[in-house]
Amino acid sequence: MADGPKTLLEAVAYFKDENNCIKYLGAIRWPDGVVTCPTCGSTKVSFLENQKRWQCSSRHPKRQFSIKVGTIMEDSPISLDKWLPVLWLIANCRNGISSWEIHRNLGVTQKTAWFMLQRARLAMQDDRKGGKLSGEVEIDETYIGGKARNMHKAAKAKKLHGAGGGVVGKIGVQGLLERGGHIRLRVIDNNDRRSVVPAIQEHVESGSQVYTDQLKSYFGLCADYAHDVINHAEAYVNGQIHTNGLENFWSLLKRDLGGTYVSVEPFHLFRYLDEQAFRYNHRRNADGSKMSEADRFSSLCSHMVGRRLTYKQLTGKEEQRDEEAF
Ligand SMILES: [Zn+2]
Repeated sequence: MADGPKTLLEAVAYFKDENNCIKYLGAIRWPDGVVTCPTCGSTKVSFLENQKRWQCSSRHPKRQFSIKVGTIMEDSPISLDKWLPVLWLIANCRNGISSWEIHRNLGVTQKTAWFMLQRARLAMQDDRKGGKLSGEVEIDETYIGGKARNMHKAAKAKKLHGAGGGVVGKIGVQGLLERGGHIRLRVIDNNDRRSVVPAIQEHVESGSQVYTDQLKSYFGLCADYAHDVINHAEAYVNGQIHTNGLENFWSLLKRDLGGTYVSVEPFHLFRYLDEQAFRYNHRRNADGSKMSEADRFSSLCSHMVGRRLTYKQLTGKEEQRDEEAF
C-alpha cells in the first residue's frame, strides 16, 4: 500500500485509527476491492459504519463479520492498534521479539503477548507456494539444547529417552537452504535415514545439486541428485562444496534462541523455526533488492488469512474458565 506506514513509529501512529487498520488489511485481503463474506463467499455485503463490521445480505449465522474474522486474530479481544504493531515487530525485528518486551510496551499481560506471538508465528508458517527448492541446495542438521525443566511431559520423556537413538538432551533441526533463495527448517527425531531423507525428496527438486556432510544417512542421495559431500577432516573449503550458508544460519539461530527467547520449550520449537525462516525468506525481493519493512509486514498480513490457532491447539489444554481472554 503506497500511502501505508514505512517504519515502526509510523505504523504505531497510523494504526491508532481503527479505520486505517481496516483500510490497510482490507486492501490486502480483497485487493480488487470486492469484500467477500468469509462464511458463504457472497459479495453482497455492506459496511456498517458504526460497528466497523460488514454484514452479508444472505441470512446465515455469523453474517456480520469484522476484518479479524477468518484470520489468526479471529475471536481475539485485543484491538487492532495493538495487534498490528506486534505483527510489525515480529516481521521486522532481526533478532525476534519476546513476549516480555510486548508486555512492557503494549500494556497486555505477558501471557497474552505470548499467545499473540504464537498466532503470528502461525501466519509466518511457509505455505510452500514457491514450490520445491532447486539449483544449489545445502543440507545440514543442528541440535538445539532445551532445559529439562519447564518442558512438556511428552517432550521431556522423549528427550530423556533419546527418541530412538537421537542425540540425548538436544532437539534436532534439519535445514534445507537454496543458495540465493529460501530456507526450510523442520524438527527431526534423530538423524537416521528415515528422519532426514524424505524431507529432501519432498522439498528439493530432483536433479538439483545438493551439499551435505559425511553423515551416513545421506548416502544414496546421488540416485536423485548431484550430491557432493563435505569432508570436514580436510583443512580447506573445497570450492563450492560447503554448507557455510546453513552454518551461518545455525549460529544466528542459536544466538537468538538463547538471547531473545531465553529457553524455548521443545514442544514449541517449530514455531520459532517458522518465525526465523519467514524473516530469512523475506529478506529480499524477487529482483534481489532488499525487502522493506513495510513489504515484509504486508506479506505477513496477507498470510494471516485462513489460519486459526486456538488456545487448546496451542497448549494441548482446554482453556480454563477463569483464564483471561487472548
Ligand atoms: Zn454470507
